[in-house]
Amino acid sequence: MEVVVVDFMLKKSELRGLAEKIEAGQRLETEDALHLFRTPDLNAIGRLATLATERKVGNQATYIVNRYINYSNYCILSCQFCSFARKKRDGDGFELTVDEMVIKAQEGLKLGITELHIVGGLHPSLPLSYYTDMLRALKAVDSKLQLKCFTAVEIYHLARLSKKTMPEVLTTLKEAGLDSLTGGGAEIFQQDVRDTIAKGKETADEYLEAHRTWHQLGGRSTCTMLFGHVETLEDRINHLTQLRDLQDETGGFTGFIPLPYQPENNSIPVAHPPTGNDILRTVAVSRLFLDNFDHITAYWVGLGMKLAQVALSYGADDLHGTIVEEHIFNMAGADSANGLTEASLVKAIREAGRVPVQRNTFYEPVREWTGETPEAPDDSIPGSALEDNLATA
Ligand code: SF4
Repeated sequence: MEVVVVDFMLKKSELRGLAEKIEAGQRLETEDALHLFRTPDLNAIGRLATLATERKVGNQATYIVNRYINYSNYCILSCQFCSFARKKRDGDGFELTVDEMVIKAQEGLKLGITELHIVGGLHPSLPLSYYTDMLRALKAVDSKLQLKCFTAVEIYHLARLSKKTMPEVLTTLKEAGLDSLTGGGAEIFQQDVRDTIAKGKETADEYLEAHRTWHQLGGRSTCTMLFGHVETLEDRINHLTQLRDLQDETGGFTGFIPLPYQPENNSIPVAHPPTGNDILRTVAVSRLFLDNFDHITAYWVGLGMKLAQVALSYGADDLHGTIVEEHIFNMAGADSANGLTEASLVKAIREAGRVPVQRNTFYEPVREWTGETPEAPDDSIPGSALEDNLATA
C-alpha cells in the first residue's frame, strides 16, 4: 500500500517532497499544510490522507450509538454565527428539567445508546447543582451510560457563575459522573477572527486551558474547528497547530472534528460557504497535520451524509453518531436529518469500503460488523430521514 501511494505521488512533482515526508512518518510543518491547502490535486491529498489513516486504524471506520440532549438554549452571549441561542425574552427558548432529561435518556437506552452528548448555551442563572444533579440522575438511569457533556466554554462559564476555579468545577462534575468533555466552542482560535464571529466568547487560551485541566485530571475529550467563514488558511493552520501542541503535552484528545460553517439564520455574511472540495481538503489536511491524533471525524450532520461518506477516503475514520435529536446545525441551515439509525451508519461505512465498528465515547470498539446488518427499525428515531439519508443529505 505505502509503496503504491508513494510511487504514484512521485510522479506528482509538486507533492513529491511532501509525499516522501508523509511516507517516512515525519511531522508536517505549517508551510507543508499551507501547500496541501493550495495544491489543486485533491485526490492526491486524499490518497496521502488515506495512507496516514490506515496506519492508525487500518480499514476500519467507527460510529457511535448516541443521543444528543440540549438542556437549554438560553445564552448570555450572541455569537454572530450562532442560530441556536435565545434570550429569556424570546418566545422559543427552552430549558429542560432533570426529570425531562431522564426521560430522554430512557428513550435513548431503548435505541441502544452508549452515550449521551449534552451541551447548552451559557445559561444566565442555572447553578452548578443543576449540572451535578443532572449528571447523577442520568448515571442513576444506567451507570454504564457514558456522559459526554459540556464545551470548554460552558465550563468556564460555570466556574465564573459558581465562583470556583476551573479544576474545582471539573473535579465536581467528574465526581458527579462526567465522563468526557465535548469539543465544541473552539471555533477559530485566531482572536481577531474570533471577535468577528463570536464576540465575547472565551479565548483560545481559555478553551485550551479547560481541556488541559480536564486531561490533567485524567479525563479525555474531543476538539473541533469551525471553518469556512471569514478565516484565512493560515488561521486554520494556526488553530490546528495549537491543538497539536496541546496533544503533544497531554495526549488527552481522543479525536478531532472539523466543522464546516453553516450560513443560515445568523449574522455573518459569508458569500461562499465551504465547498465540498474545501471540506474534503480540510479533513485531509487535518489528518496529515494532526499526526498525534488517532481519530478524525466526518461529522455527517455538518457535511451531509454523502460527503461524510466520501470523507472516509480523505482522512476521516469516524462518522460520529445516531444523535437522534440534533438542533444546533439544523437551526443553522444544515439539511441533514436530526438523527440516523445505526443501520444507516453501518450501510454508509460499508459502501465507502470500510469495515464498520461501533465505538464508545473513548473510541474503544463495542462491536465490529463483519457481515450481518444491525437490527435498527427504520422508524425508531422520530423525525429522521430514516430509510436512507444518503438520498437526502
Ligand atoms: S455559540 Fe454557544 S456561546 Fe455562542 S451564542 Fe451560541 S450557544 Fe451561546
